[in-house]
Amino acid sequence: MTGLIRGLHHVTAMSRDADANNRFFTRTLGLRRVKTTVNFDEPSVYHLYYGDEAGTPGSVMTYFPFPHIIRGRPGTGEVGETVFSVPEGSLQFWRDRLAAEGVEGLAAADRFGEKRLRFKAVDGDFFAIAEIANDPRAAWTGGAIAGDEAIRGFQGATLRLRDSGPTEALLKFMGYETVDTEKGIKRFALTGGNGADIIDIETLPNMPRGELGAGSVHHIAFAVETRADQLEMRKALIDAGHNVTPVIDRDYFLAIYFRTPGGVLFEIATNEPGFERDEDRAHLGEALKLPAQHEHLRAWLETHLPEIRDVP
Ligand code: ZN
Repeated sequence: MTGLIRGLHHVTAMSRDADANNRFFTRTLGLRRVKTTVNFDEPSVYHLYYGDEAGTPGSVMTYFPFPHIIRGRPGTGEVGETVFSVPEGSLQFWRDRLAAEGVEGLAAADRFGEKRLRFKAVDGDFFAIAEIANDPRAAWTGGAIAGDEAIRGFQGATLRLRDSGPTEALLKFMGYETVDTEKGIKRFALTGGNGADIIDIETLPNMPRGELGAGSVHHIAFAVETRADQLEMRKALIDAGHNVTPVIDRDYFLAIYFRTPGGVLFEIATNEPGFERDEDRAHLGEALKLPAQHEHLRAWLETHLPEIRDVP
């Protein structure tokens, strides 16, 4: 079952404060907010999407800011760290910038020969920026970071698992190949992907399961090009014994979800139709967009959703 997955599509996490979340991802990290919408199941909560200029799959970090949730507890069965790609030689820029912005948890690290800078977002969420040579993807330079140091998209993510075996088999089924092992971390990579091609697995047999809350990743989504590819992938996963949801229309992509044997919630999302479905590229993210079934709530939502103050 190889050849359909194109790398990551998006990573979706939980936070508390929509305004602080927006400030961190647009100002501190220089991403573009490409869509301002609400959670399909809980329309009183935003769904905020940050990425490159067009919200290209493989660049999109998304958040559900639930105003009253408590912090999650990091553990196994979840995404442990989400990693962005930046050009070689730019980590010093990022260290200086994140320090000036008061970002916590700054730590230099080296993994499989990649230089990276680890840090925490506003709810303690674990991220890293890695220097990747020759990443051909264009960065969004129309926002807070106009220079060559800007983020190109995801490099990938690390999954923290108690028992990695079944998830390793699943990744191979999805087209990933084992690349290397270092300090107990096993690296998987996809050939012919969108650039967000790395999944690292950290096996921690004695660490308790994570508890979902602010700062936790809710799910990680992998990209397929088309609806036909998604249906083929869905059938293959079901045939392999996975319990997969029906196709769900998320307005900007179609989604299927399944809980992996290691506990992480995986989604497979289509590259079509994309974030320009209901807004021109020049104005992505500016207006509050509502799923059709929640449009009747617009007047209430426009006065009750927390204010998001865009910062230069
Ligand atoms: Zn998703």
